[in-house]
Amino acid sequence: MAEMALYRYPCPNCNTELEQEGYMVIESEDEEPTRQLLNDEINLAECPNCNQTSRLNIPLLYHDNQQELFIVYVPNLSQLAPEQLADTIRYPYGLLVTKEAERRGIELPEVDDAAYPPGQEELKNQPGAKFHALTQEQAAQLLPEYLLRPTIVDTFEVLRTAVQAAMDGMTGQEVVDDMVRLQLINNIISAEDPIARRKVLHHAEPYLNDELFEVIDTLSEQMHNEGQNELMEKLQWVREQIEKYKHSQKQRLARSHSKQAEFVKETTKETTKETTKEDLKED
Ligand SMILES: [Zn+2]
Repeated sequence: MAEMALYRYPCPNCNTELEQEGYMVIESEDEEPTRQLLNDEINLAECPNCNQTSRLNIPLLYHDNQQELFIVYVPNLSQLAPEQLADTIRYPYGLLVTKEAERRGIELPEVDDAAYPPGQEELKNQPGAKFHALTQEQAAQLLPEYLLRPTIVDTFEVLRTAVQAAMDGMTGQEVVDDMVRLQLINNIISAEDPIARRKVLHHAEPYLNDELFEVIDTLSEQMHNEGQNELMEKLQWVREQIEKYKHSQKQRLARSHSKQAEFVKETTKETTKETTKEDLKED
């Protein structure tokens, strides 16, 4: 079930104080909010003063328990320190995981009273309290892994694309892998110099495979159809950079293999010589 909350915030255009209900959690089976999300109509407010429409500046958690996709949209993510990020999503995150645990029949241990100092006892009754009280080990034992490492994005369009992909039948893992690939392509394009680019490629080695080329080719085709030739050329350039990198890695590997082979040859020769000497001695 989707969860909403009432938010107050200043209109980004004219600063008028706005009050608007917005979604903080959407489950894939919530048809109406999911439709709004896919149509880019979710969490929008129109200012009565200047008529400008803006999106609520709040996190939005999307969960698909069939495909095991858990994605969190956090606007202005780059401006948040890790603790601020944790604080921002703490309440809806606890709510979502607690519900999913219940749905799966997973019992979370009771919270120890001692964990709540006087004056904070009411926190114990918050919906996510049991989840937040778990140690990392407990959480890892009790809950499916995907619930413990949601994918956090700061671009609404990325959230929308991921939700659409899951609805089209991709698993959460496939969706996340594709997001990593898109991010990688982006990082290759925006690397400042060849050395930075090499580093990006080096870190992403497990991803430099046919699936990545497939994504690049699909994107290229799309750019071609949309007449975005400059982007298409960039993508082809990315492909060439990856191929070049892989080629040089292969050569390096071959070189070290042939060195090994030589080493083996040398040592064998040595052994043979020694044997011959030994033989001679015996003779
Ligand atoms: Zn306004």
